Amino acid sequence: MSFILRALSKGIDGVLIGACHLGECNYITHGNYQAVNMVLLFKRIMEHMGLNPDRLRIQLMSGSESNVFVETINSFVKRIKEIGPLGKGEGETISGEELNTKIAEISKLVPYIKVMKNEKLCTHLESKDQYEEFFTKEEVEKLLNEVVSYYIDPAKCQACMTCARRCPVDAIISVKGQIHIIDQDKCIKCGTCIQVCPPRFNAITKLVNEAVPPPPPEDQRAVVRKTKEKEVA
Ligand code: SF4
Ligand code: SF4
Repeated sequence: MSFILRALSKGIDGVLIGACHLGECNYITHGNYQAVNMVLLFKRIMEHMGLNPDRLRIQLMSGSESNVFVETINSFVKRIKEIGPLGKGEGETISGEELNTKIAEISKLVPYIKVMKNEKLCTHLESKDQYEEFFTKEEVEKLLNEVVSYYIDPAKCQACMTCARRCPVDAIISVKGQIHIIDQDKCIKCGTCIQVCPPRFNAITKLVNEAVPPPPPEDQRAVVRKTKEKEVA
């Protein structure tokens, strides 16, 4: 998905992906099944962005099928010419600035989308009949309109550092003895931190479509230990 977005961000009018026939992948991962699913998903995302999904195509072919390759390139180029330049051939024109904003927003959500749709992306679809409604428009709208965020409650965090150690992208600002903070620009919304925060602290909240409260100023991040609080009381 990131590669497609990178092409679109550079003004490329269409993206064609070539892959081996299903069942003929040389690798145990059979990544071409996942590539097909990813294309099906991304076409829905393109609809959400206001782009014509025909700008993206995957063609399964083997190295010996030069005729298929030539036909694919010719028909794809013809279709892209029919649609017109990116953003201008979409019926309702999308300005370059608007498109760049949408591309940036979706690019940030790619890891989240992959986590949320991992199971479906790994499914092996054997028949083209299954393609059309595998990812529905409503499903993708919901996914992109109800984006989650994770927030560490400064009043509850005990700076045990568990979440920071387990975060796969180092998105948690972790200083010994200080309330931990999630860097929302780095967070890929995998949800690991909320799973590992000890239940006795329960310091992390999942927010859906809500603004994340700003972190406390740096000089007010010292943790108030629960036990000490009790002693003072
Ligand atoms: S959800 Fe938590 S663990 Fe996952 S990337 Fe964000 S901060 Fe890190
Ligand atoms: S795991 Fe919970 S209590 Fe521990 S540092 Fe993270 S948010 Fe704070």
